[in-house]
Amino acid sequence: MSEPLLYRSTRGNSPAARIDEVIAAGLAPDGGLYVPEALPRLDASAFDPHGSLADTAATLLAPFFAGNPLADALPAICRDALDFPVPLRVLPHHQDASVLELFHGPSAAFKDVGARFLAACFRRLRPAGAAPLTILVATSGDTGAAVAAAFHRQPGVNVVILYPDGLVSPRQAHQLGCFGDNVKALRVAGRFDDCQQMVKAALRDVKLQVQLPLSSANSISLGRLLPQMSYYAHAALGWWRRHRTPLNFIVPTGNLGNALACLWVREIGLPVGEIRLACNANATLSDYFDGDPYTPRAAVATLANAMDVGAPSNFERLRWTFPHDYELRMQLHADSVDDETIRETIVRHASIHGELFCPHTATAVHLLDGMQGSGHALPWAVVATAHPAKFDSVVEPLVGRRIDVPPALAAMLQRPAGAEPLAASDAALRAWLVRQSEQERVAAG
Ligand SMILES: *Cc1c(COP(=O)(O)O)cnc(C)c1O
Repeated sequence: MSEPLLYRSTRGNSPAARIDEVIAAGLAPDGGLYVPEALPRLDASAFDPHGSLADTAATLLAPFFAGNPLADALPAICRDALDFPVPLRVLPHHQDASVLELFHGPSAAFKDVGARFLAACFRRLRPAGAAPLTILVATSGDTGAAVAAAFHRQPGVNVVILYPDGLVSPRQAHQLGCFGDNVKALRVAGRFDDCQQMVKAALRDVKLQVQLPLSSANSISLGRLLPQMSYYAHAALGWWRRHRTPLNFIVPTGNLGNALACLWVREIGLPVGEIRLACNANATLSDYFDGDPYTPRAAVATLANAMDVGAPSNFERLRWTFPHDYELRMQLHADSVDDETIRETIVRHASIHGELFCPHTATAVHLLDGMQGSGHALPWAVVATAHPAKFDSVVEPLVGRRIDVPPALAAMLQRPAGAEPLAASDAALRAWLVRQSEQERVAAG
């Protein structure tokens, strides 16, 4: 058996842990984020040129699971998680540009990949008869639906979703509240950053954990971040085999999980070229990459609501990857795109090219337009993070027509939905969880 890869906290005050422990825990005990002791290195030649996305994922992730009890199951976990297509579709009206469509999973957003991988790991990690595990998810809209879909009716697991009341699209709210069974939705009187803070506080609460074993499924969990590397690797390797050039990516960015996965693929040694982060009006990252000190701030609400993040959690992992500002600023570019520009981009591409984009994807499409206008002649892949039908309330009035709804989303929208209100405080969540566990104990007799 190969030497196991161990994981440490970005804050340096937690013991080294194995990948199965890291996936079970979510957040490190010192409040930091788990990172591998060192990123493995892999060469393009390690991958089967005829392999599926799941095959690419299994090869890519094998060094991360080396020497671990989950290693043998890794190919099956990858097949469970990555069982929907992730096409790299050429944009016919652009020069050398494609769209990497990540939205063909059950909840119509890229977060299905991480959520399904996490669920596939948990199924193999939880011993039969273990106390039920409660998975807390703070969501700005899409994470919650992906996690709910991935864990719905999975035995031994309860899911509690916290979302900012009124700040997710009506269809997102419906998706979050429509599962029932082992999934509960809480609409919090606050913003996404409040929800995330409440989840972090609960996960750090040792006394609460004795009563109620908790885990998280936010993008802070490495069990979500690692599988997101797969589609970048698969797309870039396919491109490399056909063109012998690296593929460059524009990634709609909020909490930085998706973009960090892309950066790690390049760090590992695979043919990813430039990486550009497309942010909405929440300009924490674009200001930093423009040379300002890193300044987390309160989030503002935008049309691309799943990116309404003022304090991107994964910045800690970015800092771990490149500890010095000057070095980090050479790795990535970031631009902020306001709502007006998002609207314009959606309208223009629909009317001129007949292409529909969700508001998040539109931020990246805008950066692509800008670069192509300035003769920046590289092959770009715009990362499409959600299906436009999920954001019909934004997109349909702009384009003046109905958007076809993918079947999985349509099925969710037909179910009844509801969520409980909750105050935006650590104490309110704690009290709710304690009440919930007492009710379950009574119900279980
Ligand atoms: C979550 C999400 C994003 C942002 O991804 P991060 O990993 O948080 O940067 C972008 N677009 C959509 C549709 C999302 O759901």
